[in-house]
Amino acid sequence: MEEITDIIETENDRETYETARQMGEKAAGGEVICLTGDLGTGKTVFAQGFADGVGVTESVNSPTFTIVQVYESGRIPLYHFDVYRIGDSEEMFEVGFEEYVYGDGVTLIEWAELIEDILPKEYTRILIEKDLSKGFDHRRITISKVYDRQSN
Ligand code: ADP
Ligand code: MG
Repeated sequence: MEEITDIIETENDRETYETARQMGEKAAGGEVICLTGDLGTGKTVFAQGFADGVGVTESVNSPTFTIVQVYESGRIPLYHFDVYRIGDSEEMFEVGFEEYVYGDGVTLIEWAELIEDILPKEYTRILIEKDLSKGFDHRRITISKVYDRQSN
């Protein structure tokens, strides 16, 4: 099941960053946050703001070539995945996906829809979409709670 909990419109990257930072401040550990949206919509900007809210002091970039980047400098560990280049879900188990998802930290996954079959039963989905009719830098951020998923 899926329930939209919030829709936020941002007009520039700083507003997206700030929205994410506030969410990061509330993270307690154990959350799985899936970032969905086309290339260049702002998934990494969101991850950077979220990391700031968690208290991460290192600079956060898309871990495209490493699949996962772990940041330990914040209040809780942050596991930042970018699964864009993943071949299949099996590769995720090889990098220890389950230890992260069921670990103490908070997990952020860019392009999570590509590994939908192995996502946990409950997670938060952040969908970022452009609406060019509202300007080049406009984004609509739809936050949903996904729960009670049927396991495949
Ligand atoms: P993704 O990770 O989804 O591929 P990035 O976060 O790397 O995307 O890049 C998003 C790009 O869009 C950045 O260059 C950012 O400055 C720009 N941008 C413009 N408006 C916004 C906005 N409202 N929210 C987020 N990013 C925005
Ligand atoms: Mg990215």
